[in-house]
Amino acid sequence: MLPSILVAGLNTAIGLAVLLILQQGPGAYVLLAVLVAFFYLAYRSYAGAMNQHRTLTEIYDLTGAISDTPHDGTLPDVLLGRVRKLLQAEYATLWMPAQGRHPEVLLSARPDDRGLLDVAGSPESLRKQAVESGQTVAGGAKLGDDQTRARLREFGAKDAIVVPLRASSAVIGTLEVAGRLGDNLHFRPGDVRLLEAVAAHAAVAVENNRLVDRLRFDAYHDALTALPNRRRISQALEEAVRVRAPGEVVAVLMFDVDGLRDVNDSLGQSAGDQLLAEVASRLRTLSPPAALVGRVGGDEFVVTLRLPHAEAASRLAAELRQQMQDPMTFGSLTLDVDTAVGISLHPEHGSDPATLLQRADVATHAAKSLAGGVQLFDLALESRSVRRLGLAGDLRRALDNGELEVYFQPKVTLRDRRLVGVECLARWEHPTHGAVQPEDFVAVAEHTGQLSRLTEVVLREGLRRARQWVDAGRPLSVAVNLSPRTLVDPAFPDRVDDLLREYGVSPDRLTLEITEDGVVDGVDRLLPILRRLYDLGVHLSVDDFGTGYSSLSYLRRLPVHEVKVDRSFVQGMATDPGDLAIVRAVVDISRHFGLSVVAEGVESELTLELLEEIGCDIGQGFLFSRPLPYERLEAWLGAQTDAEPTPLGEVRRLRAVG
Ligand code: C2E
Ligand code: CA
Ligand code: CA
Repeated sequence: MLPSILVAGLNTAIGLAVLLILQQGPGAYVLLAVLVAFFYLAYRSYAGAMNQHRTLTEIYDLTGAISDTPHDGTLPDVLLGRVRKLLQAEYATLWMPAQGRHPEVLLSARPDDRGLLDVAGSPESLRKQAVESGQTVAGGAKLGDDQTRARLREFGAKDAIVVPLRASSAVIGTLEVAGRLGDNLHFRPGDVRLLEAVAAHAAVAVENNRLVDRLRFDAYHDALTALPNRRRISQALEEAVRVRAPGEVVAVLMFDVDGLRDVNDSLGQSAGDQLLAEVASRLRTLSPPAALVGRVGGDEFVVTLRLPHAEAASRLAAELRQQMQDPMTFGSLTLDVDTAVGISLHPEHGSDPATLLQRADVATHAAKSLAGGVQLFDLALESRSVRRLGLAGDLRRALDNGELEVYFQPKVTLRDRRLVGVECLARWEHPTHGAVQPEDFVAVAEHTGQLSRLTEVVLREGLRRARQWVDAGRPLSVAVNLSPRTLVDPAFPDRVDDLLREYGVSPDRLTLEITEDGVVDGVDRLLPILRRLYDLGVHLSVDDFGTGYSSLSYLRRLPVHEVKVDRSFVQGMATDPGDLAIVRAVVDISRHFGLSVVAEGVESELTLELLEEIGCDIGQGFLFSRPLPYERLEAWLGAQTDAEPTPLGEVRRLRAVG
């Protein structure tokens, strides 16, 4: 009751004071009016100042809240919730149009919804206008022009204020409120200024937030495909290893896109990018939902997930690889999307992401030379690549000391089994490791700058023997393998020319075998050197044909004399109709272009018969002879000349020798 008594007392006092004053006559009326007017004005300005103070405090709170918001994607919630309350609006909306890699953002806070909605309380045209003009657009009973009001009415909104968000001089979007709460209440010009003040602070925060989001995204994603990158995949692997249930495996499937370099070289970088983007999207759509798909290198993608056992991983790899194979079109060209897949597994092959990825990579390299294109990691694979590293010094010594040997493998005409030449194949017996695979030491030579010496050793030995055979009255042509890298050496043709002169061998007795991949990779760069070799009169042969990507029409562009069908097809042709069809097509086209065809890897009589039927000219393989050292080849030749005209008898005898 105390306040009431006080107020009643005060009222009574004022009432009596007024009465007493009024009793003084009309002059007192004027003085009283002045007093009333003064109190009224004082009150108004006090209320205004209070209001302004409150608003400033609120803006201050709001900006403080915005800048305290952690960079975890909650900024819009905080911002919009506060703005909506501050302006007593039905909707508070943040809009950022799509820009570069940023997708469009449209988020609204509403009084009864806890989360944000992707709707707005005003027409889109207002937001666009605000972004385009960089000016605030407002409309309502107390705001804006007729046109804006009409647009709002049409949309069914009472009023709205749309303010551009300006960050570092560009407009990145809008902040808006729509629908002042309360039936008879409307937004006023003061609200416009308030929202503008908030927007000025918010813009910086929004932009920074977006920047952080982008930096974070960039740090863990690949720019071209937007897939998680190596760092992210490593994190995920760590996590998967930790949460793996007993009995499960964590599988790393690494896909290597075949022929990316060819696409880049022949169709341009953007076509290569297109190919990668396509592979990325195919992998993403085809992979099981639980899998994480990422890009870990130029043409290397990883799919990682937990699976019940190793077989499930191999099966998934084979399925994915096959489903990805649909051709892809580049303008008028279509290209098969082929991949090689290497698999590593936790716990079998390692526990840390780096080891798992590295071992998947080793397996991928091995997978490239497999018909199925899928390889599970195996320690033997690694020991091979690790062993290569240690061989570099030993190879140098072997080359210095002439420890490299050259074996010869006969090439035979299929029709009359006549010996037409030999292929020279390098052999290296390592003092401690024993025989080293040519693939291994050739790779070592390539990577340690010893390739040209290796090639020269074989070339010299081949030419020396070719000279001897001419002198002995039974000329034979010799074939020497070149690595693709030799073909980018502009001095190579002159070197060959010199050696031919040195040994006095006619150029057409020398065939240089170049693998198909080697020729097709950057064919334009290699053409001048191929052409110079061709002009020397040396014969050129495309080795391992069918394993690369070249279409047969490439053959027409290349200055070559011979095609060697890869031994994988020759070996398969007796049992696999697909292989048979490939060999047949290669033979047909090659003959059409006037090239001779050599089938390598002829191991069985059945294959021999099929090859003859198809019309292949020349064969090479264990059926006739393994690669032999010179002396044993001589014995083979002797046996052949001694033998009687039953060719197969000859062959059998020769095999016994090989
Ligand atoms: P390539 O040029 O395709 O050589 C033919 C390979 O097939 C040889 O393996 C040969 O032994 C093998 N081969 C021949 N007939 C048969 C058969 O009937 N069945 C089977 N399964 N295999 C057969 P090799 O000697 O191990 O050579 C492997 C590769 O190493 C060669 O493949 C060639 O690309 C490379 N190479 C060998 N010597 C040299 C060289 O001096 N320089 C270069 N750059 N590469 C070489
Ligand atoms: Ca060869
Ligand atoms: Ca070959």
